[in-house]
Order: sequence, then C-alpha cells, then structure tokens
Amino acid sequence: MELITSQDWATIYLGLIFLITGAHMVVLYLLNSGGNPIPGLGLYTVYLMAALLGWLSYALKQIVDIPMPVDVPSVAAILTSYILVLAAGARAGSTRGRTLLGLLCAAACFSVFFLSAERMFVVQYLAAGLFFTCTGILALRRAFQRNNVGDAITGVGALLMTLGVPVAFYQALVANNEASATTAAFVAYSWAYVLVIIGFLASVVIEYQQNLDQLNTKDPMTRLLNRRGLESALHTPLAQAARLRLPTSAIMIDIDSFQEINDNFGHDSGDQVILQVASFLQQMSRGSDVVARTDGEEFLLVLPHTDLEGARTIAERIRIAIAEQPLPVDGQRIPVTVSMGVASIIGEESLDKLSQDADRALQLARRGGGNRVASVESKPVHLSTVNLES
Ligand code: GH3
Ligand code: MG
Ligand code: MG
Repeated sequence: MELITSQDWATIYLGLIFLITGAHMVVLYLLNSGGNPIPGLGLYTVYLMAALLGWLSYALKQIVDIPMPVDVPSVAAILTSYILVLAAGARAGSTRGRTLLGLLCAAACFSVFFLSAERMFVVQYLAAGLFFTCTGILALRRAFQRNNVGDAITGVGALLMTLGVPVAFYQALVANNEASATTAAFVAYSWAYVLVIIGFLASVVIEYQQNLDQLNTKDPMTRLLNRRGLESALHTPLAQAARLRLPTSAIMIDIDSFQEINDNFGHDSGDQVILQVASFLQQMSRGSDVVARTDGEEFLLVLPHTDLEGARTIAERIRIAIAEQPLPVDGQRIPVTVSMGVASIIGEESLDKLSQDADRALQLARRGGGNRVASVESKPVHLSTVNLES
C-alpha cells in the first residue's frame, strides 16, 4: 500500500477546510431571507473566496514553483486580512477606521513592487497582524454586547493569527529558519481561518435562535412578554412561591371601550394608546413583577410575593393614574380608562387558575361599568364599589 505523502496531507487538509467552509456558507445563504439579511454575509463570502485564491497562489508558488514577478501570496494575504476587518465591521455595525486601514492596506500591497522578499515578509505579517487584531477586537466586542459565543470564537481565531506573527518573526529573523517561519504562519493562518468561519456560522445560528425565542415569547408591538413568555418567566417564581407558601397576585387590565377609540381616532392612534398603557404598566411595576400583553387591549401584571390587598392597592393606583389625564397622541388628547380584575393564590403554582380568577374579576369590573377594580378571593366573589366616573 502506498503511503500518503505530506503533500497529500496538505491537499486533504486544505480541501477539507474549504469544503467545510463552503458548506457553511451554503447553510448561511439558505438562512439569509430577503426580509432579514445576515449582516456581513457578503463580505465573509468574499473573504472565503479571496483566502482560497491566496492559498492557491501560495500552493502554486511552493509546489509547482512557478516563477512570479511579484510576491502574489503576500499581497493576497494582506488583502484577505483587510477584507476580514471589513466583514467583522459589517457584522458589528461599525465602519470606524475603515479608510485608514484601507490606506495602510493599499500602501502595504504596493510596497511589493519596491521591497525585497524578506522585507515584504515583514510588511505582510505586520499588516495581517494589525488587521487580524482589529477583527479580533470587533468580534470580541460584539460577542460581549450580544451575548453571542460565535463572535467570541471568531475573535479568538483572529487573535490567534496575531499571536502567530511574533512566532513567525522569531523563526525567520532570530532563529533564521525560514521553513519554520512559513510553517508557523501557515498553521496560524489556517487555524485562524477555520475558527473565524466556524465562529461566523455559530454567531449567525445563535442569533437566529435568539430571534426565534424573542418571536415566540414577546409581543412585537409593545416588546412586552406574550402569554408563552409569561409562562416561562413565571415558571420558577411560581414554583418557589408555592413551596414557601407565599402569595402571588395577578391584575388583568383591559382598556375600556377600546373599539370606540379605534373608531373615533383611527387604528394608529389606537396603537399609540396600547403602547402608552404598556409602558405605563412597566413604569408602575417593580423589577420582580412580570407584565405581559395577553390580547389586543388586554394586559396581565403578575406580582410575586404580593397578597390580594397589596395587589388591589396597586391596581387602584394604576386605574387612577391612567384615568387622571387624557393620553397625548399625535397632538390630540385621548381620554382612556381601564378596568381591572385582581386575584391571588397561595401555595399553588397554577398560572392558569390565577389568570382565570383575574379574568373573572375583570368581567365583574366591566359589568359594573368600567373604570373600576374588582377582585376575587378564590370564592366568594367580592366586587369593589370604587367608581370615580361621576
Ligand atoms: P370592552 O370594553 O368590552 O373590552 O370593549 P372594547 O371595545 O374595549 O374591546 P373589544 O374586545 O370589543 O374590541 C377590542 C378591539 O381592539 C378589537 C380589535 O380590532 C382592536 N385591536 C386589537 N389589537 C389591536 C391593536 O394592536 N391595535 C389597535 N389599534 N387595535 C387593536
Ligand atoms: Mg377586551
Ligand atoms: Mg376593552
């Protein structure tokens, strides 16, 4: 059986890298819907192609030993690392320093016509080191801001290349071993390349998942939780409250005669009213409270560690504050009132029971004419008589 030579290994190695990254890019293009384009996808693809061409020219120079009037692989390495900064910048939404780095890139590329091979080696690694450092910083900053481990992988990959530069310099300039210098640079480049592409793919997939989670758990208009988000947010607090036999209360809030607001002021003004009530509820609630939009003009405010009396007081405060002043919408002032149903549980963890009781109380408040708070205490039912309308 014939042995696989080191050249074969290099071919297999490079082939695998490009197949894997090529497959990644296909997956990304499939995920890339017209309405929600992936930032940086185009430039990362250009980087992939440019790196491929750079490697081909390097392989031609090394293996076939085609005489080249200028050092094409060095120029390709400078250009690809600059394209990578542009790609990381596009992904991170930052264009700062692009022009300056572009000028440095152009100067480094043109110097190939004037410098000896050894000097060009220094220019190439300094330029690539600088561009990879910038890429690493951009990607790590994005990883931190967006809580995305994919960007962190890209950042580490890019910084790995920066670490490869001094090793290559040491081998070439101090140890005087050009072959080791080239190997060090090749290993750093290829690993950086693989990590950058894997990181980019992971970043896109993680972001995709984060967006799906948001869509599933949040109301797109008010950014409040929806019913499903409410359930997952309350899972642990409800179980804990039940175990410790602590009370949990809920206030169901419904905007009175909302259809009339839509009819009289228009649907857009109706939207504004919903948004203002939503933000008002958020302002009035504590950090541990959970606010959700459960229907068109209906909200649920869940108050952990709060008994029925406490919840009634808060509900009354909200009702008065909303009724007190008409809401300013597009230069008009729209009078808005809300009806509220309050309920409480102790030693149970059923969100369904809590919201059904709050809904029952809400129906009582609405039947009483609106702009009022009603509460149920499991059984019997109490209807509050507070009504400030007249
Ligand atoms: P009630 O006092 O019995 O609750 O009556 P209402 O008019 O307040 O409520 P109803 O359930 O009869 O109508 C609610 C309307 O809210 C119907 C729906 O078209 C409208 N709506 C639902 N979602 C939105 C929204 O996001 N924006 C706007 N502007 N209107 C909405
Ligand atoms: Mg309603
Ligand atoms: Mg209503």
